Amino acid sequence: MIATDDAIELEAERLLKALLHVDCDPRHRTWNLDTCRSIAPLTLEINRLKREKDAVILAHSYVEPEIIYGVADFRGDSYFLSMKAKEARAKVIVFAGVVFMAETAKILSPDATVLVPDRGSGCSLADSLTGAQLRQLKALYPDAAVVCYINSTADVKAESDVCVTSGNVYHIVEHLPQRRILFVPDRLMGQNLRDELKRRGVDKEIITSDGTCMVHDQFGPADIAAARAQFPGLKVVSHPECTPEVAAVSDFVGSTGAMMKFVRATAAPYYLMLTECGLVGRLQVEDPEKNFIGGCRLCPYMKLNSLEKIRDALRAPTPEQIVTLDEDIRRRAARCIERMFQLAPTD
Ligand code: SF4
Repeated sequence: MIATDDAIELEAERLLKALLHVDCDPRHRTWNLDTCRSIAPLTLEINRLKREKDAVILAHSYVEPEIIYGVADFRGDSYFLSMKAKEARAKVIVFAGVVFMAETAKILSPDATVLVPDRGSGCSLADSLTGAQLRQLKALYPDAAVVCYINSTADVKAESDVCVTSGNVYHIVEHLPQRRILFVPDRLMGQNLRDELKRRGVDKEIITSDGTCMVHDQFGPADIAAARAQFPGLKVVSHPECTPEVAAVSDFVGSTGAMMKFVRATAAPYYLMLTECGLVGRLQVEDPEKNFIGGCRLCPYMKLNSLEKIRDALRAPTPEQIVTLDEDIRRRAARCIERMFQLAPTD
């Protein structure tokens, strides 16, 4: 069905209202009525396909703004989105994010058809460790509790005792009965965990594997020092996937959701967000009066998502776009995530 000129004009106006304030755009576009008119036929078609197919679209905060504000039903981090997918009970879930996130949605919503727009959307962190490699590590530390960050493959979750997010990792690990913890796959988050538990006076031995996020491991304390010299009153907000040296000189360290809350609750003339640029785009839309200085980095995997690929997946998905999991792995991975729900703080 071809959209009428009137429908396109209305849609372009709707898009512009949301996208007007985005100037941290990965493709350096200026969001005006013409830019919005150029994507309006696509967003109209995707929103129509969603209704026809009983589909929901989940968009991670790091994907492009026209996906987040043009077609997504829910936006946020991977944990929040997987929960929303589970609650939505839609027949089809399109996960605009990366493959491990779509796998998590499939683990929690096994009856839904879960689609990933681009099968190449991996993750340097999740792809750093396979289930087989984790089995070898476990054999070296048989007395350790195996804790995996949610940014991990379904195979790794299936081999782990409990999953954690950047928002609940400290609480969950602190309350595990085991003293020795095998924390995978993020070495830097593991180091931050070690430092935080020490600060809390908790005696745990944290053993890590060697993965890092290729976006967050690029930031260094020198970036922060240079920005503070140029922007007096600056608040530096970082993610626990950054190095401990960056965490030590940040004003706030937390999950993407906590970073957004901190910015909203804290008055400052400028903010430096040490994370993926998509989060800055979201803050520019949702908190347009705040000033964000440059410094964020792009995740090439997240940027493989596009409106065209989402439309094609909804129209007729290719086998690569459909997420399938071995049922035994799915069930064991679901148990690891359920354990997180039991142990996570309730607030
Ligand atoms: S930002 Fe880092 S952790 Fe997130 S998908 Fe990209 S590489 Fe993976």
